[in-house]
Amino acid sequence: MTLANSLAALDAAHQLHPFTDARALEEKGPIIIEKGDGVRVWDSTGKEYLEGMSGLWSVALGFGEERLVKAAHEQLQKLPYYHTFSAKSHEPSIRLAEKIAEMAPEGLNHVFFTNSGSEANDTVVKLVWYMNNALGRPQKKKFLARKNAYHGITMASGSLTGIEADHTDFDLPILPVIHLTTPHFYRFGAEGETEAQFTARLLKEIEDTIAREGADTIAAFIGEPVMGAGGVLVPPAGYWPGVAEICRKNDILLIADEVINGFGRLGTTFGCQRMGFTPDIMSVSKQLTSSYMPLAAVVFSDAVYNAVADNSHRLGGFAHGFTASGHPVATAVGLENLKIIEERGLVAHAAELEPMFQKGLRDMLEFPIVGEARGVGLIGAIDLVADKATKRKFSKPGQVGQIANGFAHEEGLILRAIGDTLALCPPMISTEAEVAEMLRRMRVAVERTVKAVAEQ
Ligand code: PMP
Repeated sequence: MTLANSLAALDAAHQLHPFTDARALEEKGPIIIEKGDGVRVWDSTGKEYLEGMSGLWSVALGFGEERLVKAAHEQLQKLPYYHTFSAKSHEPSIRLAEKIAEMAPEGLNHVFFTNSGSEANDTVVKLVWYMNNALGRPQKKKFLARKNAYHGITMASGSLTGIEADHTDFDLPILPVIHLTTPHFYRFGAEGETEAQFTARLLKEIEDTIAREGADTIAAFIGEPVMGAGGVLVPPAGYWPGVAEICRKNDILLIADEVINGFGRLGTTFGCQRMGFTPDIMSVSKQLTSSYMPLAAVVFSDAVYNAVADNSHRLGGFAHGFTASGHPVATAVGLENLKIIEERGLVAHAAELEPMFQKGLRDMLEFPIVGEARGVGLIGAIDLVADKATKRKFSKPGQVGQIANGFAHEEGLILRAIGDTLALCPPMISTEAEVAEMLRRMRVAVERTVKAVAEQ
């Protein structure tokens, strides 16, 4: 038995994998990724891949950034751990909180650190409830979210998530949350409806929901500026400014889940800036540390902070937090990571690459099975359909996506099949030539899929 084979057997014997068919893994084994450098990773058989998904939409700086390694090493030597409970603090968490506040939209000056995006969104729920209790409106607790949204997978964040498969058999949602129509015109626009009419219909749905439930019962609206895990779903023009206006009128907090969009992915520092709205609260993670360390944060306005701070004073402490909130090694890496993003102008770089990247995806519309190509900045996707004219889906959802994913793998490209949607999210350091090569490999995978579908 080779080392890789024995590792595969041990993996199947002992590790339950997230978002994986456990029985299929026992049979086929995992793909063991052994090392990485730049935009490439290598598996245990020595096969090289272009990492077109930045890991899980997160490795902005690629897989070999020495400065992040050095930042972690130095912090581990100086102070490997300290907490931030009970008025303790340390320099890396202070400097990173300041940096995030400096980069964030005007007025978002306060940061609470967590380890994961899910914990960040759980913290959002708790902050908002705590605030509304403190303000003497304990009935104002419901959340508005969208179908196909992904906000995480813990009990509260998983409840905000609007993907059915993530609720099934987990008895979610457990929160008072209302999932509204997904703002994706291609799939959810009605027969004969224009995009502007679609936007107006969705905004009216929000207003009607508020009128039905009562604004005094609705605490917040949460959304990813551009939805990621739900299939890279780009909302129509006017949607976000409209949502922001409705929230403002009804005293409903607006929350931008920037876990994927944040730190340059859409060619602006935050996705909300590209989509034309200013939130009261943001959750950030992923590109915050390029995933070299687990770290996330909730970033919030003075108004939210003041209500929470007053209540923490009244109650003798804000009774929320994690052992590793603001972990010094994670925040030291985060600070260095954000410095590098700034020094190398990677937000502008994403904006510069956007036209060729997005054109490359749209060029795939020439294939008979590509129904829609979409994206913003350095994130995009194509939808594979059985019939382009009617947008009819394949009879077994996800099967063709998996076939295409398999071909991409063979061609040395890691992309993500979300059902029959193929997503691409190149590292922010990718050169134009590397992005072109990812697109070329994706085209080959789609071409091979066209043939495979024809032979079925
Ligand atoms: N929000 C969004 C928009 C995400 O994409 C994700 C993760 N993909 C999360 C929250 C949850 O983050 P985590 O996996 O770190 O809990």
